Amino acid sequence: MINVWVIADSSGRFWDTKTKAEAVEMKEIFEANKNNNDTYRIANLREIHDCPWSLDDDGNWETTCGNYHTFLEGTLLENKYMFCPYCGGRLVEVEEREAK
Ligand SMILES: [Zn+2]
Repeated sequence: MINVWVIADSSGRFWDTKTKAEAVEMKEIFEANKNNNDTYRIANLREIHDCPWSLDDDGNWETTCGNYHTFLEGTLLENKYMFCPYCGGRLVEVEEREAK
């Protein structure tokens, strides 16, 4: 089991660190250098995996863990989704496939 600390900002980016001390240090650096109203938070993920989501023709997201999710509008990032609400995996947006 991997013990991973993650720093996430309010626009959906995140950084992995190996220890809590490292995460706290990075968060302090980010907060000291920010030039906007971003907020940063630290999360401990016991095990990180990716959950790729792909958008179908009807505008529904199909998750790799076997669920469907629909947003009223906007992309994953615009909705500030970073992690899958079903399996806790990190969201990865799958490139749209050619419909041919
Ligand atoms: Zn998932």
